[in-house]
Amino acid sequence: MSHALIWFRRDLRLDDNPALEAALRAGHAPIPVYIHAPDEEAPWAPGAATNAWLHRSLQALDADLRARGSRLIVRRGDSLSELEKLIAETRAEALHWNRLYEPASIARDTRIKQGLKSRGLTVESHNAALLVEPWTVQTGSGDPYRVFTPFWKNARTRLVAAAPPTAPARLPEPPVLLAGLGIEDLKLEPAPPEPRWDAGFWQHWQPGEAGAREMLDAFLDGAAHGYKEQRNYPDRIATSKLSPHLHFGEISPRQVVARVLGQVWPAAVQGDIDHFLSELGWREFSHHLLFHLPHTAQENLNPKFSEFRWAKPDPAHLAAWQRGRTGVPIVDAGMRELWHTGWMHNRVRMVVASFLTKNLRYHWKHGADWFWDTLVDADLANNTQGWQWTAGTGADAAPYFRIFSPIAQAQKFDPAGKYIRRWLPELATLPESALAAPWEQPDLVRRLAPGYPSRPIVDLKASREAALAAYSGPKSKP
Ligand code: FAD
Repeated sequence: MSHALIWFRRDLRLDDNPALEAALRAGHAPIPVYIHAPDEEAPWAPGAATNAWLHRSLQALDADLRARGSRLIVRRGDSLSELEKLIAETRAEALHWNRLYEPASIARDTRIKQGLKSRGLTVESHNAALLVEPWTVQTGSGDPYRVFTPFWKNARTRLVAAAPPTAPARLPEPPVLLAGLGIEDLKLEPAPPEPRWDAGFWQHWQPGEAGAREMLDAFLDGAAHGYKEQRNYPDRIATSKLSPHLHFGEISPRQVVARVLGQVWPAAVQGDIDHFLSELGWREFSHHLLFHLPHTAQENLNPKFSEFRWAKPDPAHLAAWQRGRTGVPIVDAGMRELWHTGWMHNRVRMVVASFLTKNLRYHWKHGADWFWDTLVDADLANNTQGWQWTAGTGADAAPYFRIFSPIAQAQKFDPAGKYIRRWLPELATLPESALAAPWEQPDLVRRLAPGYPSRPIVDLKASREAALAAYSGPKSKP
């Protein structure tokens, strides 16, 4: 039986894996390969938290392959050279992979496809990550979409309820002598003298295909009911927490949609389901934008902001934001949730991003960079869009003058202060009435929370006004 290489990247699953299916369909024995080449994704090589996740996700994939009689061949180095070596070692006749959409990955993959095809190899790429690939939907005038609602109206019609294929129970064994590295050789996890900053992550997460499936099952049985309203409350289990699993392709959006549409929902839950699907739509829209406007990972999408007067970051204030020591509890709780779990609730992401880009008036890149390193779901398309949306510089963004009030957000979405108390234990004994803006009750803070900053690093009202003035300034008016 002739061989085909299956080049795994961010499609770390066996079910609904079109690259694997295509090789099997053609009658090839698939050889599963992972090549570690972070430099090829520069300047967006994976951050520390996603690397820690990747370590476990690769282990899970290898275990799933072994349970079927196969195994993951791990290599490190230039992807093209490693693939060429593997082709020579296995006499593989074909190479399959599932597509990525970031600018650096597209450039590399195009080069590899051209190079290997010209030498007579069958090289095929497939769609495993998106419901609608960026070039398959366009506006009436043939342009890419820049506004979410019409994008989703179009893309939504393409969703299908049919369950995608599952993987066979047995896979052929790769050649016994085919050598590879151990996953631990890739040194993806934090190692001494670095502290194990990820130690707390794994009580919240189970990387890998089985963990993704469990997350989806739990969501469909539970939080899906009431999602539209409850998803705004950060102290509740009210969203799917599928984002890192989707990022690494441990589950596909097709699988999620098929499960959602394949179920009969009570009429009262239909609005929740539609809203959940539209959030998957935002993921699609982010990829659509990044594909068509690849410069936006670094630059404002809205060019009118090119003259905007961002403030020069004060390193102490930036560090206070990163560490959850700004003195504004809802901001600090979010940044600590991120630090302890590698994830942050969406509403709080918007609040901390607004605080950084509007109250501190720092360029959104400072925030996007920190998220890139600390989120387990750090994803170039979603992160770029999330930051540009909140900063007001994006395509379909919140206008710059809409500035989140962290006090009002805490009062409305964490009214009992459960989220703040969970992540800021030093405020645990403060009464509810003091939790959104403790600096307004300095005596209480001195007595009950002496370790917490006595006032915010920036005056919320004055900084809001300064942001609005900068926004409407003569040179910078967007
Ligand atoms: P659910 O509410 O259960 O939504 C289901 C899925 O839809 C998510 O898993 C995600 O894949 C997608 N989704 C939901 N909301 C959005 C959104 N606003 N934009 C794009 N896709 C969305 N998401 C990431 O996956 N990676 C990031 O790096 C990232 N950075 C962000 C940065 C900022 C400043 C902001 C405001 C948002 C960011 N998001 C990012 C989007 C969103 O916060 C997360 O996708 C969501 O919180 C993940 O939780 P969940 O899986 O429980 O979401």
